[in-house]
Amino acid sequence: MPRIGWLSWPRVCVVCGRYTRASVDCCPDCEASLPTIDQACQRCARPLSQPQRLCDRCIMALPAFDAAWAAFRWEGVIAKLLDRFKNRADLSAGRVLAALMARQWLAQERRAPDILVPIPMHWTRFWVRGFQPTHRLTQDLSRDIGGMSWRSALRLRHRVPPQSSSNPDARWVDTHNAFALRSTPHDLDGVSVALIDDVMVSGATAHAAARVLKDHGAKTVTVWLVARGGG
Ligand SMILES: [Zn+2]
Ligand SMILES: [Zn+2]
Repeated sequence: MPRIGWLSWPRVCVVCGRYTRASVDCCPDCEASLPTIDQACQRCARPLSQPQRLCDRCIMALPAFDAAWAAFRWEGVIAKLLDRFKNRADLSAGRVLAALMARQWLAQERRAPDILVPIPMHWTRFWVRGFQPTHRLTQDLSRDIGGMSWRSALRLRHRVPPQSSSNPDARWVDTHNAFALRSTPHDLDGVSVALIDDVMVSGATAHAAARVLKDHGAKTVTVWLVARGGG
């Protein structure tokens, strides 16, 4: 019986458009050029210019989540891929971002969380976009890394302006009491939760969502981000 495994079609890199034999739709050259974060606040993943355990904001007041991890910095090609994914419904860009996140997470031999929960968008924005980007990321990450995906865990009680249109201080007010937990098919008591978001800038949204999960018994909440802004 001849082996036919090598007869797979080449993939097309979502960044440069060239064919690639890589295992994701991103060629090795483009993957190597993506903006990673060299040193970051251990609590909120804010990029830091010098080695420090916590950033100035976390020294003043710790967020409700226990840690944050960002695969990339929110700039350049990553910002463009996120824009294509979220605002132009380019689902292949979203799949690549999730695959690259999973690859980094697994390379660092980190443990899978018990449950993965996406930060939801308000229904009015869902109605315009037709899909929930963070739901897609959560589904892909759960498949690649492990952990149970609970995509409908959180509900947004009121509309929160997008991060790009609110200043950091106003954002803490906008997101206050923004989230509620849906009636729960899963017991959160003592479980580790990964809270999935595409981009974090001030950290206010993740703080508000993490507080709800902690109030319902989650043992740890770690924020997973495609990209971290602010620095
Ligand atoms: Zn490429
Ligand atoms: Zn911090």
